Amino acid sequence: MFLRSLAAPLTDIRGIGPALAPRFARLGIHSAAGLLCHYPRDWEDRSRRVPISDFHRGRVCTEVTVIAHDWIGFGRMRALKVHVEDKSGRAALLCFNRPWMEKQLVSGRRYRLWGRFFYKYREIQSSSFEIEPVIPGEIAGFGRILPVYPLSAGLTQAMLRRFVSRALEQYAQNLEDELPAEIIERDGLLPKAAALKAVHFPASTPELELAKKTLIYEELFYLEIMVCRRAIARKKSAALPSVSPARSSGPDGAFSPPQKRLLERLPFSLTQGQKAAVADINRDMAHTDAPPMARLLQGDVGSGKTLVSFLAVLRAVEDRGQAAIMAPTELLARQHAENAARLLEPLGLSIAFLTGNIKAAGRKELLRSLSLGEIDIVVGTHALFSKDVHYKNLTLVVIDEQHRFGVTQRSLIMAKGSRPHLLMMSATPIPRTLALTVFGDMDVSVIRDLPPGRKPVKTHLAKESSEGRVYDFVRRELAAGRQAYFVYPLIEGGVEADLKDAVSMAERLAREVFPSFSAALIHSKLDEEKKRLTMDRFRSGEIKILVATSVVEVGVDVPNAGCMVIEHAERFGLSALHQLRGRVGRGGDQSYCFLVYSDELTGDGKARLKVMLENQDGFVIAEEDLKLRGPGQIAGIEQSGYLDLGIANPVRDAGELARARTDAFAILEADPDLLLPQVRVIARVLEEAPPFGEVAL
Ligand code: ADP
Ligand code: MG
Repeated sequence: MFLRSLAAPLTDIRGIGPALAPRFARLGIHSAAGLLCHYPRDWEDRSRRVPISDFHRGRVCTEVTVIAHDWIGFGRMRALKVHVEDKSGRAALLCFNRPWMEKQLVSGRRYRLWGRFFYKYREIQSSSFEIEPVIPGEIAGFGRILPVYPLSAGLTQAMLRRFVSRALEQYAQNLEDELPAEIIERDGLLPKAAALKAVHFPASTPELELAKKTLIYEELFYLEIMVCRRAIARKKSAALPSVSPARSSGPDGAFSPPQKRLLERLPFSLTQGQKAAVADINRDMAHTDAPPMARLLQGDVGSGKTLVSFLAVLRAVEDRGQAAIMAPTELLARQHAENAARLLEPLGLSIAFLTGNIKAAGRKELLRSLSLGEIDIVVGTHALFSKDVHYKNLTLVVIDEQHRFGVTQRSLIMAKGSRPHLLMMSATPIPRTLALTVFGDMDVSVIRDLPPGRKPVKTHLAKESSEGRVYDFVRRELAAGRQAYFVYPLIEGGVEADLKDAVSMAERLAREVFPSFSAALIHSKLDEEKKRLTMDRFRSGEIKILVATSVVEVGVDVPNAGCMVIEHAERFGLSALHQLRGRVGRGGDQSYCFLVYSDELTGDGKARLKVMLENQDGFVIAEEDLKLRGPGQIAGIEQSGYLDLGIANPVRDAGELARARTDAFAILEADPDLLLPQVRVIARVLEEAPPFGEVAL
């Protein structure tokens, strides 16, 4: 019996009735299999005795005798205190809100005790402990390594341990292996049943390690099977019915005449990275009998991805096709729309801008033109895939800052066309290790170079107490005609008194610090019209200082801005800091970034700022971010819907991942139609995520 057929309802497990089942549902556990795959988040070693006198060495784990009870405090604060002793010494157990323990813990009887103890009020005490009677012959929770599970309300560790152990009893002997036998043998892994038993209730630390190794490999193997299947499906998929006929001119990657016309109008030439990316894209779109493009364009902030996407658009609209360019914020979408109007309209293309804020009348007209094919290019936000939006012939979807969008949103916009090409762009570089996993079925182009003449941004760290010197520096830059951003973690103060916020700092900077330069405020709570006006005035140079929250984080491009001051920098994640710093250094002049940190900085905050100080390369910063935070936290990964892994961590287990990938591809390449019946519970979660470039509705 495969784990999958363990879809038996949870209530089949002895002791779990209709009352308990909903509590498990809150943890995402709906079946016996789900319970068995609810892996511990940690393990407590209670196999080794730690007597009371050794309380400072770790958790006490010992057998005690109850010697006395007494009560401390008054009224509602009254609490039971139980005195116990083992051979090494005495301790006091504080039983807050547990008065019934007076009857449970009987003087003179023996108990097993486990918990963290402190020396306080001249005794060794604990208020968080577990205790259970010594019943001869029963091992219970002591003398072994115990699992510690993620919990939700109404469930305790003891309950989970009990029910998992029952589920193992009821089902484990029927489990067959899910990994191919050759792999289990080759790597010396455990059989599935043994691995499951051992991950929940290991007999020893080496057994636990082997169980983890087995289950981690299994997860990664099935993850790669999914990715590989998707890649094969995409390659096999039918021709693009909407683009026709086959293009004849030149080699695949060559620039088309409209693309050349755009390039001639530019005051600069493409970088090597941009050229290579456009050639990749042209090749993807050259053949009508090939599957549609599904390409991820990675390039650091400022590497010129927008222009590459415009060139892709020119290709896609050649034969009466339409292109949609989607960006996560209205600010950014508007900037793209303006650039598209400036660069593409002169080539005879019609461009529309669509967001949720476009008012009724204009919107109706716009939607009509779009559905009639009178609009070639539409730029916008999530509004691009609203129900009432119809395209005549959508042939290309460009998703900028793709990590800001979820899997579902991607498939909704793709569903607006009939197998359109897909170009996703990201300036939050996804480290190679993860890119393989998350976008394993996509082609990737990477722009590694920046446009020439850019000078690396000079980064400085400054303590909050010496911010005056930062202000002086910025004042000199402003006097020299440049512009500056000031970024704060909060819009308005109030919650945390000692935290600077954008609203009050905008006041202070304008009045006290830089009275002779114009400043303006921008944050997410302002209405779009106000934001737009402010951005326009900043771009035109009328406003010299833009005080902001992280709304300026993505995409905003004002080359004359040369100073970026981020206050309470320790409050921002590494990728946000990198994005923010990427707002400057876009022109030819030297730019500066000041990371101002609070006077008391934690170790973690220090580590992050140090990474920023020492690195400019977004790829390196993203790798560092992963090391510091783990993959679940990385922007773009948690949204991807692909990394719903129970025990594996593709970064920590990078070696395993690579091997699993090789194995999975070898197996599927030998037999692409192989339907591994044992697609696991976890794998099923993954499979629900629709493949890129494909519509699953
Ligand atoms: P990102 O990759 O972060 O989206 P943008 O597309 O916003 O970067 O480009 C940043 C700036 O660089 C824009 O002002 C753009 O006009 C300019 N740019 C793009 N390509 C080149 C190039 N080849 N040479 C010089 N400047 C360029
Ligand atoms: Mg961009």
